[in-house]
Amino acid sequence: MIRADEAQGIITGSVSPGASEVCKIADCLGRVLAADIPAPRDLPLFDNSSMDGFALRTGDITSATRESPVHLKLSGELPAGTWTHETLRPGHAMRIMTGAPIPPGADAVAEQELTESDNGSVRIFSTFAAGRNIRKRGESLSAGALALRKGLRLSPAAVGSLASMGISQVEVYRRPTVALVCTGSEVVDLDHTPSPGQIWNSNAFTLRGALQNCGMEVVDLGIVADSKEQLTDRIREALACDAVVTSGGVSVGKYDLVLEVLKSLGVEIEFWKLNIKPGMPMAFGVSKGKARHVPVFALPGNPVSAMVTFDQFVRPGLEKLSGIESPERRLRIKATLEEPIQKKDGKRHFIRGIARNAGGGIVVTTTGTQSSGVLMSLVKANCLIILSEESGSLNKGDVVEIELL
Ligand code: AMP
Ligand code: MG
Repeated sequence: MIRADEAQGIITGSVSPGASEVCKIADCLGRVLAADIPAPRDLPLFDNSSMDGFALRTGDITSATRESPVHLKLSGELPAGTWTHETLRPGHAMRIMTGAPIPPGADAVAEQELTESDNGSVRIFSTFAAGRNIRKRGESLSAGALALRKGLRLSPAAVGSLASMGISQVEVYRRPTVALVCTGSEVVDLDHTPSPGQIWNSNAFTLRGALQNCGMEVVDLGIVADSKEQLTDRIREALACDAVVTSGGVSVGKYDLVLEVLKSLGVEIEFWKLNIKPGMPMAFGVSKGKARHVPVFALPGNPVSAMVTFDQFVRPGLEKLSGIESPERRLRIKATLEEPIQKKDGKRHFIRGIARNAGGGIVVTTTGTQSSGVLMSLVKANCLIILSEESGSLNKGDVVEIELL
């Protein structure tokens, strides 16, 4: 049995990204950059005003006070989207809108709220430093500087920043295909009425959703009975994808055949059994073909175990596969327990919790029964309470670490 940290290290150490392709930025949300992006030009493209107000020369207003304002003559107007070559003359100001270019000669913008104006002139009531309310050309990025780094997953803000630089297409990693194989002779599709002893395939939906949330292209290979022959055929087919996720059949029961089948197909098992709860029977292996390596995540069938192991171990592996340079652990924060938790074993526990703000701090309760078959415990949860291997039972009021889901 290996520790969770060690397992995470093994997974991220054995997975690497695949090929890249060029993609229009409109289709790039959630994709991962396969090359650094230098800024092609200065950003902003030109000096411009950050306020609606009056462009002026600060040399003209050094004596301005509330009692004795400086009067400047208005010469022209600069809406956003226009351009002027006309130099602002001493003693003059130009009305300017947010985003409009600063006219030559001007070195500050007085925000409208601090001025009084009529048709022909504007009164300025205090002095300003040069540069006030001016967004300088290149202040956000200068041409040639590294704008976005290879390995970045493109968020809406990152896609927008590409547009702001005039970049319409980028090189991104191909979206990995992940085969999903749900095993178990008791598991049936939704269009079947379960016979006595059978259950519906909920893992197909939880895992498919989790894979989609990671930006994967899901290849659902359906349900396979606990039969060596059928498992061998289906998993062989699955190995044509970039990664494989299976559920069920990986524990120590007589009909848990997944591990044996994986080995018979040449998958090198990197670990089996983790010192965690829930999710102990998880296995991870790599099919090392000549052309490429295919990681295989064999998850336990219990619905909560499958989801928790996906979250903690599969997700970081798939992030690496997608090209994310160094997948970051989910942010952990501290919260105060509102109820005691019993823990006697030396495993790492992932307890489904509900965290909320309460008078200056974050408090957390469990979602109730923590049986690994109770999917509702995850439906209600907004966090996982992480109890380390070393931790014992906890009391109400103790501080624990949580990861927000
Ligand atoms: P196993 O990991 O095969 O020992 O299965 C553990 C438990 O998870 C058993 O109660 C199974 O019936 C249940 N289970 C296995 N596969 C699924 C599935 N695809 N959807 C829902 N429950 C499942
Ligand atoms: Mg089973």
